[in-house]
Amino acid sequence: MSPATVLDTVSFFHPLRTIVSVLLTLFFPHCCCLCKKPFTPLCESCADKLDFCTQFETKIFYPNNKLQAVCRFDRNSQKIIHTFKYQNIKDLAFSIAKLIVLHVPLPPTDFVTSVPPDPLRKKQRGFDHTQLIAQTIAQYLDTPYIECFTKKEQTQAQAKTRSKAEREQNIKNAFSITTSFITTDILNGSSILLVDDVCTTGTTLQYCNALLEECGFTTSNVVFAVKI
Ligand SMILES: [Zn+2]
Repeated sequence: MSPATVLDTVSFFHPLRTIVSVLLTLFFPHCCCLCKKPFTPLCESCADKLDFCTQFETKIFYPNNKLQAVCRFDRNSQKIIHTFKYQNIKDLAFSIAKLIVLHVPLPPTDFVTSVPPDPLRKKQRGFDHTQLIAQTIAQYLDTPYIECFTKKEQTQAQAKTRSKAEREQNIKNAFSITTSFITTDILNGSSILLVDDVCTTGTTLQYCNALLEECGFTTSNVVFAVKI
């Protein structure tokens, strides 16, 4: 079975995919968010035309992050993320996770986690979009997903901050690491893959990496789209 087929099977039986959502998809099928082709939230043809980037390119722009990305943050990738987050098309999580697994040479990892959304924005949307992507990746890799962070207070969206200092302060006010996930299964030096949807400055990932590394993890990062 090809990796793509395996991931399709994993996605279809994902525990977060309820019977209601499967039935809704059958009766009200999605259209591709980029070309409106029916029966898929993102068609193969549009996925193949994304502006894919290499590990070498991301390393030049984000030398402090162990970051890998699928594609550049451009009009198409922005539309995919926007449709997923704001039009509540949860099946796009499976398309995005599939693109990550198929296009990024993910390092072997003991755990997968995700950057949390602002609690208020999560409540407005009704779901944690990044967690959904990360959980699908974890299921594909047959690796446990653990929730490591809580977001302390509502912060200005990182993309709207004006300076590096403002971004850093915004992030420092935002995250704390939870300790409830630390069990005997997690040994010092365990590796963890931190997932986010978009990387625009690298500051959020850098700060989350630092918190995870303080707990003894070795970290790597993967995002769907990166601003380069
Ligand atoms: Zn399409």
